Amino acid sequence: MNNFPIQYNEPLFRPPSEGRSLILQITLGCSWNKCSFCEMYTSKHFKARKEEEVFSEIDTFIPYASQIRRIFLADGDPLVLSTDRLLRILTKLKNTFPKLQRISTYASPSNLARKSDAELKELYEAGLSLLYVGIESGDSQVLECIQKGETFETTIEGLNKSKAVGMNSSVMIINGVGGKELTHQHAVNSAKVLNETQPKYASTLVLTAHKGMEHFQNRYKGNFIELSQQELFIEMQTFINTLDLKETIFRSDHASNNLILKGILGRDKQAFLDKIEIAINNPENAGLRPKMHSGY
Ligand code: SF4
Repeated sequence: MNNFPIQYNEPLFRPPSEGRSLILQITLGCSWNKCSFCEMYTSKHFKARKEEEVFSEIDTFIPYASQIRRIFLADGDPLVLSTDRLLRILTKLKNTFPKLQRISTYASPSNLARKSDAELKELYEAGLSLLYVGIESGDSQVLECIQKGETFETTIEGLNKSKAVGMNSSVMIINGVGGKELTHQHAVNSAKVLNETQPKYASTLVLTAHKGMEHFQNRYKGNFIELSQQELFIEMQTFINTLDLKETIFRSDHASNNLILKGILGRDKQAFLDKIEIAINNPENAGLRPKMHSGY
């Protein structure tokens, strides 16, 4: 698409797998905007964009309607909008783009908890089929330290509620986010959340302090000591070892990861563990990639 018809309110984020999707900002920023590790929207105030503005933006893509198969709704948590408003947007998208196959968005477990089962079902039936849920950790103490506003229980509840109506989820865990003190419980309880919810997709990335470690430590509600590379691998080993997944597509290929793992869990669990074992004991033979600076 040459001469891209809209101008985004920067910064703009989307999951790596939405690289070929049309991104529509139906909200700006994140209504929570408190997580200690996240700088994605700290430069913005949360705002719901005017419906007529969003609709006219959708209309500018009419000339490309036959090419649009996937749409990602931005910014940080569009599900904070009322269900009626979301349904109007989803219906407009469906009516405008006849070849549309998937609509996705970021979501938090709290977003999902605030919707009734009937509302989530309506949203699913209107086309919202994939949620990217940055759960970060399954451990309640870690979640409190990073000011996520969630617990082990609310995370499971939100994920299972959306799954029950047919929505798929792609969940993300942050390797190293509990620091040295909470590393073990972070690994075990994160795996337990995944076991209880069996998401369609799961991924890990490595904690990156975008504004420096001191800034992150000041925002972290606890005593944070960064893990060494070997300790990060040991945390991954505990996490993968505790997982009991049936057919989750797993990726740890974000730019922040040194150790790339891609496969299906449970099928590839032992292969992952073998790779991690080499990374811990023999890192020069593990095919590690240098850590790259990355967005969230
Ligand atoms: S991690 Fe998600 S919920 Fe937390 S501040 Fe960032 S965008 Fe908002």
